[in-house]
Amino acid sequence: PAMAVQEEALHILFFPFLASGHLIPTADMAALFAGRGVRCTILTTPVNAAIIRSAVDRANDAFTGTGFVPRRAAAPGVLRPVPGRPPHRRGRVRQLLPLRSFGEVFNSFHDLEPDYVEHFQKTLGRRVWLVGPVALASKDMAVRGTDAPSPDADSCIRWLDAKPAGSVVYVSFGTLTKFAPAELHQLARALDLSGMNFVWVIGAAGGQDSTEWMPEGFAELIARGDRGFMVRGWAPQMLILSHAALGGFVTHCGWNSVLEAVSAGVPMVTWPRYADQFHNEKLVVELLKVGVSIGAKDYASGMEAHEVITGEVIAESIQRLMESDAIQKKAKDLGEKARRAVEKGGSSYDDVGRLMDVLTARRSSVKVGEDNQAS
Ligand code: UDP
Repeated sequence: PAMAVQEEALHILFFPFLASGHLIPTADMAALFAGRGVRCTILTTPVNAAIIRSAVDRANDAFTGTGFVPRRAAAPGVLRPVPGRPPHRRGRVRQLLPLRSFGEVFNSFHDLEPDYVEHFQKTLGRRVWLVGPVALASKDMAVRGTDAPSPDADSCIRWLDAKPAGSVVYVSFGTLTKFAPAELHQLARALDLSGMNFVWVIGAAGGQDSTEWMPEGFAELIARGDRGFMVRGWAPQMLILSHAALGGFVTHCGWNSVLEAVSAGVPMVTWPRYADQFHNEKLVVELLKVGVSIGAKDYASGMEAHEVITGEVIAESIQRLMESDAIQKKAKDLGEKARRAVEKGGSSYDDVGRLMDVLTARRSSVKVGEDNQAS
């Protein structure tokens, strides 16, 4: 009987913060572990569950091939303990927060930030596992992160198919970032001035449906369809970034976007707004040298609090990025390293295995429900 218990699949519970930027990589990470034979459960609300449903279904399909009993909840499954109510409001969950963690799992890979990994391990003495880029585990790139893809998504990919390799700039700022009309105006001018092909996602977050901010001639430029394509709503970001036509990404430096660009070997024009984005910009531009900064300095989540950067400055950054062979080559090399990290024998692949070993070993020494504050 003791043997039978040991052979049961490891079971990991994922509890993502309720924002797309957390939910999407968590679903990817669960799929990654499921692919290695771990039973995974994602705890979230019904609305968020719908967003990652296809990722969960695909992980389930893949999981049945691993030799474990093919049952519905074997790969990422979605618990529904919280109908209609954000779980963080619940007292019992709040009481969990003071618990110290046993270690930390990161959506990153060793070659991306070796000095920081060493700092965490040696100086801070923390246990860390780097298992990313988790986006590379995604099997549903076309609908990743949404249950309502943009109606423009398919035509966007066809539009890219007709463009020369490395000729298109992709412009998107994640799920939360908003721009003032004056900023959109300058960005549109910049895309026009740069002379480059571009795909620009005006996402749901913007609520920026009006066209009042458009500079003269911009609507016509889009309507012509030769140089610019606008995606309204949810874009298939990983599909776009991995397209051969891509040559650059104008990004707010959300960590997911950075890692996705790195994975695809696409260099970045960086335009941070708040949160960790300025740190991410530093990593991209100064340490990895796979980006050009537009020089944003104002840290604020509100859109009115940002200095308006002129179209000329943005356009120059885009041109510098697209025309720099050194930056383009560095980005391609880094993309190679990212893909190698998650392949069998790569650093992230091995960290997944190491974490599974540690958890399996601890399972036999720690009883469920035991107070593990001391760990
Ligand atoms: N995303 C997408 N399509 C969109 C907008 C966003 O697929 O139209 C995805 C993107 O690929 C990334 C995530 O949403 O995985 C955004 O996370 P990020 O950390 O870049 O930014 P945040 O939204 O958290 O600021």
